[in-house]
Amino acid sequence: MILRVKGNINRYYIQTLSMIFFPGASFPEDEQPGPMVPELYLSLENSESGYRAVCDCSLDGASAHAEKELSLEGLDDERCRKLVVGDAVISALGDLMEYRPSWGILTGVRPSKVATEMLNRGISKTRTKKTLVSEYFVFPKKASLATEVAINEQAVLSRNSKNDFSLYISIPFCPSRCAYCSFVSYTSKRFLSLIPDYVDRVCVDLRRVMAEAKLLGLNLRTVYFGGGTPTILEPSQMRQILSVLNETLEGKIPDEFTYESGRPDTITEEKLKILRDFGVKRISVNPQTLCQDVLDGIGRHHTVEDFYRAYAMARDVGIEIINTDLIAGLPGDNFKKFSASVDGIIALNPENVTVHTFCVKRSAAINQEEGIYSMRGGDVGKCVDYSQIKLQQSGYIPYYMYRQKNTVGNFENVGFAKPGLEGKYNIYMMEEVHSILAVGAGAVSKFVRLPETSQDKPVIRRYFNSKYPYEYLDRENCDGLIEELRKFYKEYPL
Ligand code: SF4
Repeated sequence: MILRVKGNINRYYIQTLSMIFFPGASFPEDEQPGPMVPELYLSLENSESGYRAVCDCSLDGASAHAEKELSLEGLDDERCRKLVVGDAVISALGDLMEYRPSWGILTGVRPSKVATEMLNRGISKTRTKKTLVSEYFVFPKKASLATEVAINEQAVLSRNSKNDFSLYISIPFCPSRCAYCSFVSYTSKRFLSLIPDYVDRVCVDLRRVMAEAKLLGLNLRTVYFGGGTPTILEPSQMRQILSVLNETLEGKIPDEFTYESGRPDTITEEKLKILRDFGVKRISVNPQTLCQDVLDGIGRHHTVEDFYRAYAMARDVGIEIINTDLIAGLPGDNFKKFSASVDGIIALNPENVTVHTFCVKRSAAINQEEGIYSMRGGDVGKCVDYSQIKLQQSGYIPYYMYRQKNTVGNFENVGFAKPGLEGKYNIYMMEEVHSILAVGAGAVSKFVRLPETSQDKPVIRRYFNSKYPYEYLDRENCDGLIEELRKFYKEYPL
């Protein structure tokens, strides 16, 4: 895509806005005009009371033009520039492509974060929704969703304190690779043979990290085993890690203890009983769809029956909170099948339901297929709307939400919960309100210092563990992580 920008505005911002209309576009400086090459010219200048943005765009002989002005009244300089430029670009590209994006100019920022900032400034719920619609061009139903999520998140966040932390343990192995997955997860026999060494190593690091957290005076709030597929571990390996964790907890029970299970084909009664006996309160059992032909098409090697069986076992064993994931927009799915999946899940009455929108990253096998990305998203918008309406009518509240690049139709991922049973780790991690100490390959620790006053910004530092299990095992210890952790809390004492 040809992009020319004049004035004090970040070029990257215009690129992300353009990609709403041209998913996957690139912006080489030397791009030449030609058929099917979109062009966009944007200029930003001062007006009498604020800024004026002019946008011209064209594609294959069709063109559109938009001019917008915005006063600085009540806005800081950067926000005023972004809003007026966003308005001009969305208007011009919207006319050219005859399409209005449901999240308006919100790109690269979580909509609920924008809503939270307004609510924290004392702006009412109604006014927050209206502002999202009028200034950010968000559709009213999405503005309501973002505001509801912000309010529900706050209820959980109000219980957070500055010396809290969460623990993340990464098990990046899966029994086979789903066709749409781009996650770094090991599935081959050779790599799966690393699991016993990997488990030993995680146990060593777990002890060290938890001992350091104790020395620093940190208070553990939630534990999260994530994947891959953590239930790929053998029962003895699960016992090994969970016993070490239990020792380090010294009798303290975290507010939330999640062990992601995910693939129903790895879940057995024995494993579920081990999880329950070691205090796991929350697991996920993820069908993604309740339609067998869709499941077959995405290369997930389990059946719908496997899901029902694993779900019933988890209930019988007495796991307190079960999350189920669905994905809207899977290849081969349609509104009829997806709405039946939503209804089927609601009938099971799980405590949490997470509805994702299909997103294919570059490395996924399925990415080779034509027509996966769709700006308008076909009937995926209808599917997403259906899930949100039906779940809320059935007593679930939306409590966390995020958006990813390259989702079909640019739609969102939303976590729903029965009130009071929200997945707290998800909120803490997303909102970056306390430190996350992460053990295992590919895991990222975040050290967080909350602002002292409303004028300050939080301090967030990240530490990346080695990405691949073999690299992780090659490193002798977790000295690097411990060192960074100490350094951070020395600089920012509790
Ligand atoms: S179970 Fe999840 S992490 Fe594993 S291959 Fe499938 S999508 Fe990827």
